[in-house]
Amino acid sequence: MTPPPHRIRRPGLRSGLVLWALVSNLVALAACGSIKLTNIPATSPPARPPGATLTTTQPNATGLKPSPASTSPATPDKFTVVLDPGHNGANASHPTEINRPVPNGRGSTKACNTTGTSTAADYPEHAFNWDVALQVRDALTARGVQVVLTRPDNTGVGPCVNDRATIANRTGADAMVSIHADGATRSGHGFHVAYSDPPLNASQGPSSVALATALATALRGEGFTPANYKGADGLDPRSDLAGLNHARIPAALVECANMRNPQEAALVSTPDGRTRYATAIADGIMAWLTSQ
Ligand code: ZN
Repeated sequence: MTPPPHRIRRPGLRSGLVLWALVSNLVALAACGSIKLTNIPATSPPARPPGATLTTTQPNATGLKPSPASTSPATPDKFTVVLDPGHNGANASHPTEINRPVPNGRGSTKACNTTGTSTAADYPEHAFNWDVALQVRDALTARGVQVVLTRPDNTGVGPCVNDRATIANRTGADAMVSIHADGATRSGHGFHVAYSDPPLNASQGPSSVALATALATALRGEGFTPANYKGADGLDPRSDLAGLNHARIPAALVECANMRNPQEAALVSTPDGRTRYATAIADGIMAWLTSQ
């Protein structure tokens, strides 16, 4: 366990107002799904003067239309991290919502969200993502980091991938990390960490590459191996992930494992396996935060 970080704010890192998160509609930034979500126009993050409060939103019954929820005071002395558990538990039963086209951040569109993948035994990716995210949240919180989740539970729909980025941007967090598992061919195995490339703004440049690298290093440190079927050395520069394209803070997306590979399916399906992934992700985030 690493002690709480000494707060050293680097220029360019936005102080974190936080809140406990909640968002609305959408889904997957990823390559691991099969369905899509809908469109909620991306909006520019409001300017946050010192001492401002952050307004969060909570999903309504469908999980797709945000409504005012609560405000939290800014706490600029702490790191703030947005965790984005990919997909959502009710996406599969709401195809119209999740297939809705949304801006992909590079002039085109993609599905609001997808269902995500699953193991051959039907353990769903959204459940894996959610469990790992909660464990990462707890590990970061124990180290004094404020955490915002892009969705409040694993029973809703969405939010759309672009909205997840908007949520992160509005918090002014230091970083956003999306958590996924892949659904590739059976022989593929290993993790890969995606970042936006070519970068669309300063936060998507070296800072995001460093964040992705720190996550990959920590995953290796936990004994995981880089993917043998995608990327190089566990890193995967991508231009097609809307959640990363819309990010205006350093952002990365972790594909922890290939759920269609029998050995990795067994690993992600166990509580101990999920804890190992969460430990690595939390360690990677801390390493990056404290290096800034
Ligand atoms: Zn996914």
